Amino acid sequence: MEGPYYEGQRPQECGHYFPDVLRFLDIKREKVYYRVLDCFHCGRYTIELLDPSKELKARLDRNGVDIAVLVRDIPEVRKRELARLLQL
Ligand SMILES: [Zn+2]
Repeated sequence: MEGPYYEGQRPQECGHYFPDVLRFLDIKREKVYYRVLDCFHCGRYTIELLDPSKELKARLDRNGVDIAVLVRDIPEVRKRELARLLQL
């Protein structure tokens, strides 16, 4: 199945839609913030995170990394989020 999953849903950078595309983790390297996304169709890719939230920024400044979802949980999270979206 491929999105969009609701009216007006905007695609992620690779052209696919949440939850096919999940936030995998965020990292900070040399003062730059990055987001690694996990796409069911494209695999993992990294984008520069231009406008991180204040909370996320604080966590990345402190830890250097912020893990959104564990690798082993990705299929389950995708399934759960899809079920939730399709119920709306
Ligand atoms: Zn993709």
